[in-house]
Amino acid sequence: MIVDMHTHLCDRDGVAKPFWDGWAEVSALRVNRPLEKVQRRLPELWDISGDMIVKDMDAAGINKSVLLAIDWGLARHLGDLKLSVEEINKVYADAVKNHPQRLIAFAGIDPRRNDAARLVEKFLKELGMKGVKFHTAAGFYPNDRVCYPIYEKALEYGVPILLHTGEVLKPLHFKYCQPIYVQKVAMDFPDLPIILAHAGGCWYPEAVAICANATNVYLDLSVWQARFLRPLNFYRALRTLLDSVSWQRVLFGSDYPFLKLLINQERWVKAFTEIPDSVKEQRIRFTDEEMAGITGGNAVRLLGLAE
Ligand SMILES: [Zn+2]
Repeated sequence: MIVDMHTHLCDRDGVAKPFWDGWAEVSALRVNRPLEKVQRRLPELWDISGDMIVKDMDAAGINKSVLLAIDWGLARHLGDLKLSVEEINKVYADAVKNHPQRLIAFAGIDPRRNDAARLVEKFLKELGMKGVKFHTAAGFYPNDRVCYPIYEKALEYGVPILLHTGEVLKPLHFKYCQPIYVQKVAMDFPDLPIILAHAGGCWYPEAVAICANATNVYLDLSVWQARFLRPLNFYRALRTLLDSVSWQRVLFGSDYPFLKLLINQERWVKAFTEIPDSVKEQRIRFTDEEMAGITGGNAVRLLGLAE
């Protein structure tokens, strides 16, 4: 079974205009294309029904995807959002209703909301969400005491928490997203599965060190598509990662749909299921057991999915 641990639903209104401006600017720079051309393709990323992601999952052979709701409501630097936190989470729950066999949703919440713990409980209980996502770039640190009631709630419901780690697009701030701030949380909640999204991104060695020291910390490989643009570098980095932490706590992810114009889902899955001979010739080797775990087995265990 192939499970994508890190995906989103997007439309024009789900995140505010400054986010899309930043996304288009960085993407244009990365792929060396005119900004207007990238901006014109933005609507190709937009669908909140879940139909588009399922179609792309079919093409790529992905069985299940975890949709992560994001609560940007208190991130003032992103401008005003049109949807409330309840509405955003409902969009995600509705997509799961449309495709119950294929999609799973995590609740998105900013823990600084007055009724954050009550809301999370409501999303888990009433909307059937299976985990919690924090996007700390909204303006809080994961080791801030304000987050602790949510960690306790996740523990109570037996669901994991996924935290963004690594760089973010402007106008968001990097500083809240350094993995180091998760280390104490992992010690304070040894029974809470904590997923560091993007395996720490630009702070990847830091995330790896934290994961190696705490058996409840997992790493997802979303956005590593950017590394895969130079395949040998990508496989070397992945091998190093797997030599440092248990493969049972490394999870395939894409951050769909943000990178689909760069590398589509099909190509990204094949990076794990069809390793090129040129990589083997470099004596960079992966076992079938490692790859089966990363692409799905580990997520199946973590989320308690039926195989
Ligand atoms: Zn993401």
